[in-house]
Amino acid sequence: MTTATERRDGESWTLLQTMLEEQFTLHTHRLTELTVSARLPRRGGYDDRTLEASAAAARQGIADTAHALRRMSEGTYGRCEECSRPIPLGRLRAQPHARYCTPCHRSR
Ligand SMILES: [Zn+2]
Repeated sequence: MTTATERRDGESWTLLQTMLEEQFTLHTHRLTELTVSARLPRRGGYDDRTLEASAAAARQGIADTAHALRRMSEGTYGRCEECSRPIPLGRLRAQPHARYCTPCHRSR
């Protein structure tokens, strides 16, 4: 059995890793910014609901990208977590943290 890394074109893989690292950094900065705003007078102009929803989205983004980067280092990235089939490269390019192939994602 070949690993996901061997199976894929190395250049695309490097690009996906870069995208994931950039997204991880972006979500982390966003969460920091929101945490700071929450402590400001009038919450930095955010209403409570927007602030909470944005913070939740940033936390989810951090969790998703960290999970994908871990799978990349373990060599399981790019395989569906449900059926173990390879996730098409186009889907990974659109959503680098995708954990499931399209049929499994739809049935969840
Ligand atoms: Zn699947």
